[in-house]
Order: sequence, then structure tokens, then C-alpha cells
Amino acid sequence: MHPSSFEYFAPTKMEEALELLSKYGEDAKIMSGGQSLIPLLKLRIASFPYVIDISGVQGLNRITENKEFLEIGALTTISSIADSELIKKRYQILHEAAGQIADPLIRNRGTIGGNISHGDPSNDIPAVAIALKANLEVIGKEGKRIVEAHSFVTDSFTNVLKVGEILNKIRIPVAPDNSGGCYIKQKKSAGDFSVAAIAVQLSLHDNDSVKSAGIGLTSVAPKPTRAMKAERFLEGKKINDSVVREAAKIVVSESDPSTDFYGSSEFKRKVLGKIAEEAINLSFERATVR
Ligand SMILES: Cc1cc2nc3c(=O)[nH]c(=O)nc-3n(C[C@H](O)[C@H](O)[C@H](O)COP(=O)(O)OP(=O)(O)OC[C@H]3O[C@@H](n4cnc5c(N)ncnc54)[C@H](O)[C@@H]3O)c2cc1C
Repeated sequence: MHPSSFEYFAPTKMEEALELLSKYGEDAKIMSGGQSLIPLLKLRIASFPYVIDISGVQGLNRITENKEFLEIGALTTISSIADSELIKKRYQILHEAAGQIADPLIRNRGTIGGNISHGDPSNDIPAVAIALKANLEVIGKEGKRIVEAHSFVTDSFTNVLKVGEILNKIRIPVAPDNSGGCYIKQKKSAGDFSVAAIAVQLSLHDNDSVKSAGIGLTSVAPKPTRAMKAERFLEGKKINDSVVREAAKIVVSESDPSTDFYGSSEFKRKVLGKIAEEAINLSFERATVR
């Protein structure tokens, strides 16, 4: 099938992109890597009279780190994230998630901004952004604003962006010492979306009790989900088998999976409980490597 016809723009400057978005309003659609949007257009699940391809906008495909934040431009590809030595060494959870997304062709074109903005509850990066307590910088003609990662996706395929706004940067706070995290994705086959997946990031006090916890869930609710009750339960506690079992139960209680091609809701809850235990234990192990 071919998409409905549309007018195509390829701005190279952010100001141009914002100008076009403001001119065409709701009739315009942003495209970054096109890996989610193009299939939707080709299948005619969606159609827009104006497609604004921002993949050529300068300066948005960088990974940098300062004392406070790891900053990733929205146009940074999933491959660049998976291949980054900095991310591999210091943000293992993000490295793990990026390397498990789809296949190399999709990772080479798909961007972190598109992965988050698409609002697909099965996309992997949003849960990691939630666990890492990332701030998302949004830009529009009126200026910039910051949205916390856990409140960016508001429902399936829906986000907080207003007409004319673009996700510009992802800022991840630099983790304190004694921190560790992981992303565990249970999938049917390599390159597939998950049956269930979980991102956990723990920071510990010197006595190894949990100073702060971040937990994000993929594919187990209509939107990427923060397991906030489980985070609070873990904070202040020392990790042992019973604490981990109880935390995993709370994680499951915060999920709301549906029955679909990937399994029944009951099966997904069981999988989630199991990987939640594994992820908390592994994150703790990583946080205690000194
Ligand atoms: C076969 C297949 C398998 C896949 N498997 C996985 C998987 O296992 N895990 C996973 O996480 N993903 C998976 N994906 C999804 C893929 O990773 C995403 O398509 C990709 O990351 C989205 O990024 P993009 O740059 O291609 O976005 P696009 O397709 O260009 O855009 C997607 C949506 O986001 C909007 N958008 C894009 N960039 C911005 C921005 N900067 N600001 C505001 N809105 C924006 C667009 O308007 C559109 O609505 C799979 C996709 C396919 C086709």
C-alpha cells in the first residue's frame, strides 16, 4: 500500500521546523527516523497533509555529559546510544535497552526522540527514562519547557506535546556513587517487542540501604508506567530476599497488562513478577560494586 499524498519538508534548522509546525498546525506531522511513522502512513492508519522531516536538523544528534547530566539530543539514533562507550560504561541500563530494540536497520534510523514521543507502551526507552528520572526538554515557538519522563506519555500513543512542539533533548541526572541499574526484557524472539520488561535503577547509602529507586515498566499497561509504590517501598530498606519478593509483588500490582498476541494478562503479570525480582537483585549487585 502507498500512503496518502502529503507535502514533504526537510528543514535543517530548528527555527525553520518550528515555523513550519506553527504554519500547518494539526495538519503537520513530525518525522525523525520514520521507523514508526512510515509504516503507519503506508498502511493508511494515519495520514497528514504535511510531513516535516526533522532528521536533518543540525545539532540534535549528540551525546554529551557534564557534572549534572547526560544529555542526549532527540535525533540521536538508537544505534549511536547502543554503541556509545560513555553510555556503556556509565549508563548500563540505557545501553542494555538500546541494544535490544528491534534490529540493526531500525536502530540505525530510529531515534531516541521518536522512540519516546511515539507513546507506544511497548517501546523500550520510556521505561528507562522513567527509572533514570530523566527530564525531557521540549521546544516550541514560545520557548522551552521541561517535562519529567514519567509524565510525558499520557496514554497509548499520546503525549503531552502541544501542537507546534518538538521533543528536543533528554537529560539524565548523573548517578551518584553506589548506583546501579539494569533493563530486563522478556521477549518471544530476538528483535521483538517485549512480553514484559522492566527498568530498575538503585542508589545506595554507605550502609547499602536504598537511598533512591527508579522503576519503569514496558508493555504491561496502556502506557509506559512508573512503579512509584514499589520505589517508595524500597527506599530506606536493605535488600534481602523478602524485601525483593514484596517489592516485586508491588510492581505487579502497579501494572495493568492486557491479553494480546504476546500472552494473557495473567501470564504477563507472572513474567513481570519474575523479572522484577531479577532486576532488583541485579541492580543491587551492580550498585554494590565498589
Ligand atoms: C519491526 C519493528 C520492530 C520494532 N521493535 C521495537 C522494540 O523492540 N523496541 C522499541 O522500543 N521499539 C521498537 N520499534 C520501534 C522503533 O524503535 C521506533 O520506531 C523508533 O525508535 C521511533 O523513532 P523514529 O525516529 O523512527 O520515530 P518516527 O517514526 O519518525 O516518529 C514516531 C512518532 O514520534 C513523533 N516524533 C518523532 N520525533 C519526535 C520529536 N523529536 N519530537 C516530537 N515528536 C516526535 C512522530 O511525529 C511520530 O508520531 C520497532 C519498530 C519496528 C518497525
